[in-house]
Amino acid sequence: MARPIVAIVGRPNVGKSTLFNRIVGGRVAIVEDTPGVTRDRLYQDAEWNGRLFTLVDTGGLDYQDDDQMVTHIRKQAELAIAEADLILFVVDARFGLTGTDEDVAKILRSSDKPVILVANKVEDFARVHELYDFFRLGLGEPVPVSAAEGRNTGDLLDMVMEKLPPVVEDGEDDDVIKIAVIGRPNVGKSSLVNAILGEERTIVSDIPGTTRDAIDTYIKRDGKNYLIIDTAGIRRRSKIGLATEKYSVIRSLRAIDRSDIVLMMIDAVEKLTDQDKRIAGYAHEKGRGAVLVVNKWDLVEKDSHTANRYIENLRDGLGFMQYAPVLFVSALTRQRVHRVLELVDYVSEQQNMRIATANLNDLLREAVMYSQPPQDRGRRLKIFYATQSGVKPPTFILFVNEPDIMHFSYLRYLENRLRSAYGFEGTPIKMVMRKR
Ligand code: GDP
Ligand code: GDP
Repeated sequence: MARPIVAIVGRPNVGKSTLFNRIVGGRVAIVEDTPGVTRDRLYQDAEWNGRLFTLVDTGGLDYQDDDQMVTHIRKQAELAIAEADLILFVVDARFGLTGTDEDVAKILRSSDKPVILVANKVEDFARVHELYDFFRLGLGEPVPVSAAEGRNTGDLLDMVMEKLPPVVEDGEDDDVIKIAVIGRPNVGKSSLVNAILGEERTIVSDIPGTTRDAIDTYIKRDGKNYLIIDTAGIRRRSKIGLATEKYSVIRSLRAIDRSDIVLMMIDAVEKLTDQDKRIAGYAHEKGRGAVLVVNKWDLVEKDSHTANRYIENLRDGLGFMQYAPVLFVSALTRQRVHRVLELVDYVSEQQNMRIATANLNDLLREAVMYSQPPQDRGRRLKIFYATQSGVKPPTFILFVNEPDIMHFSYLRYLENRLRSAYGFEGTPIKMVMRKR
């Protein structure tokens, strides 16, 4: 189920990233985190009062001058309106109201998305009357907080929960393999989707997505149903242009949320960017299957080592995604495009695979024999037994004596044993420790 997205918008230096960190690092439970995926993350899944949501910090982009800065904030606001479920508009109570604040407020007022006006840097609550100026923004009463000290941020989150739209079920359809096509602007998402659709005669329907983030296409092939979520599709249907798309990660996050398998597209003639890594990291954390699709392979001058060198580089850049198969394609010449859905089928099988408990425990015994579990201050980890609790992603519960002795590297070792025995190609594996 797609979880609601809360976007933080505002001028530079008002405290957006401080608020972001305060919220996700504070009393809110962080749902999941892969070590080493990202440092300066733009998004974080979190939970407040039992409700899951994704917080997105829209800030952090560079600008050269004030004009650029203003344009940039306007775009953020427009994107947040188009794509987020709720907007936290942050202003600086110490600095006071600015023209840019008024500009942004105007854009936000014209939308029907819920907006909460947050007056940050209020350490002295005896002086909240000084916030009266901000009423002029026409966005209701400003909510005073101190992101730096964490004052009132809990109340702010309560308000967020109240204003979020009610939960709507996505209409889970287990018969359909849902594929998100992800990648930077110009990497060839639309071209690839069109090439795939061109190969497949039986396009069932081409309907706008349930949200406006993507265009959904259902196709049928060899009796199997697929849903292709094309994140570039929105560009063709709305005013959002290429330049603006660059500013948006939200659309990709949403498409990943709704998908089973992510086609992570990478431009063969460009370097992997931090944004690519962030998006891939999100798919990984969400447990989605993944295929790394290197597009524009026609533009690369090749010798017999080129592909292998390329794969090595990719593995370096996306260390946490070693399991993802790599496919070199050209959406333009259609080279290997037919392989895309074949690989999707394969990954789908892999991510739905179940290992019988007896076999799993045989493997575990053997693994423990070859390499002893970690110990800590005289205590050694004992793994009593394991069982697979779920698929998509394959999830294993390990019953142990002391969960906290488990070490990341030993988990990695167990994962490698599992993979060399069973493959699980294209899918992350989750392991959960239970104290017995
Ligand atoms: P962003 O550019 O909007 O993301 O702003 P930052 O989060 O980077 O914060 C800008 C500056 O404001 C930093 O120097 C922060 O330490 C400071 N700041 C952020 N929140 C608060 C706050 O609640 N009170 C005070 N006094 N300073 C804050
Ligand atoms: P999107 O923004 O990710 O949807 O990318 P598009 O599908 O719009 O493609 C961006 C540009 O790259 C277009 O000019 C395409 O013709 C070109 N392009 C896409 N795929 C390929 C490819 O495999 N080889 C080459 N040479 N160009 C491609």
